Amino acid sequence: DITLSTRVQQIKPSPTLAITARAKALRAEGKDIIGLGAGEPDFDTPEHVKEAAIQAIRDGFTKYTAVDGIPSLKEAIIAKFARDNGLQYEANQILVSVGGKQSFYNLAQALLNPGDEVIIPAPYWVSYPDMVLLAGGIPVVISAPQERQFKITPEQLEDAITPLTRLLVINSPSNPTGAAYTADELAALGEILRRHPQVLIATDDMYEHIYWGKEPFCNIVNACPDLYERTLVLNGVSKAYSMTGWRIGYVAGPAVLIKAMKSIQSQSTSNPTSISQVAAQAAIEGDQTCVKTMCQEFKKRHDFVVRQLSALPGVQCLPGSGTFYTFPNIQAVITSRGEVKDDVELAEKMLNEAGVAVVPGSAFGAPGHLRLSFATSMENLEQALKRIAAFLNP
Ligand code: PLP
Repeated sequence: DITLSTRVQQIKPSPTLAITARAKALRAEGKDIIGLGAGEPDFDTPEHVKEAAIQAIRDGFTKYTAVDGIPSLKEAIIAKFARDNGLQYEANQILVSVGGKQSFYNLAQALLNPGDEVIIPAPYWVSYPDMVLLAGGIPVVISAPQERQFKITPEQLEDAITPLTRLLVINSPSNPTGAAYTADELAALGEILRRHPQVLIATDDMYEHIYWGKEPFCNIVNACPDLYERTLVLNGVSKAYSMTGWRIGYVAGPAVLIKAMKSIQSQSTSNPTSISQVAAQAAIEGDQTCVKTMCQEFKKRHDFVVRQLSALPGVQCLPGSGTFYTFPNIQAVITSRGEVKDDVELAEKMLNEAGVAVVPGSAFGAPGHLRLSFATSMENLEQALKRIAAFLNP
């Protein structure tokens, strides 16, 4: 028998990818399944982005590049931070990686020693805790329930910080809830962070452009410019430009840390795909109309899905400020029906009996909820909501 490392034994395969695979398998058996599990936009990658990549191939731009990204892409990212976020960076503060996932992975590897604590508000993106565990760190999960708009309070943050705390993760707008912190809320968190200079902050802005909140988009550095020196801003092209398969993410932050993260990348994947980097540059520098168009469509679907779910007995659904997810609380349905034990069993039953794939809230550290992705056509959503209504309230 092969004994696996204790490190890998601590983690589980991504549950969101698992449900997508399960739905695919059922479909292959001929079952009629509507997938609301996916974490990616359903739109095609914009034409001008694809053209840039095709041109790169024709030009023979198919070799190793600088580990941290080609200079022209890094320049485009620097210009993007100035344009969209009012943030100034030098080239040695930017690292381009194989998706936003690798950006966070590199960060955990470069920052954490065994036993170091990382504060992760739940509901969280499924990968944060496992990437922290892989780096030997300890995920300290604090709960941001629906009653509090899925956001943590300054008091909760203060209580969670210990001398071992190295990092706070903020993901706004949030996967899986769509909730976004306001500038005032971030400023209040910043007040606490100022008292604990050993704590760095990772703001994961992956859904920055899929956003319809009342205030303009704002991250913690915008709210607290004095935290610039200890904040890492993570972003990428996957969601905004419908480029999940191209695998390009990027991060900006303190040069010392970025350099260490680059070393880790140089000993794991080396550069992200040369062709994808050219495509990402075209996306970031090009006409941004495509981003707005997709965002408007997501908002339309969001309104529809939230309205439909809210009308169902036992379902509590909070409108989001962005992303293409909604995260209804269905605990009352579980309790009143009594035939399923929890959200995991409910999601499984819904897939098998109603033919709708959703992800149980437990995967995001919030049992009693379901995550529905509305990155699919209105037609599919209408059909799915009919099935969900019939399934939940037969
Ligand atoms: N951050 C959040 C909050 C996400 O939801 C995702 C993808 O699901 C990522 C980062 C990573 O994106 P990528 O596909 O670029 O690795």
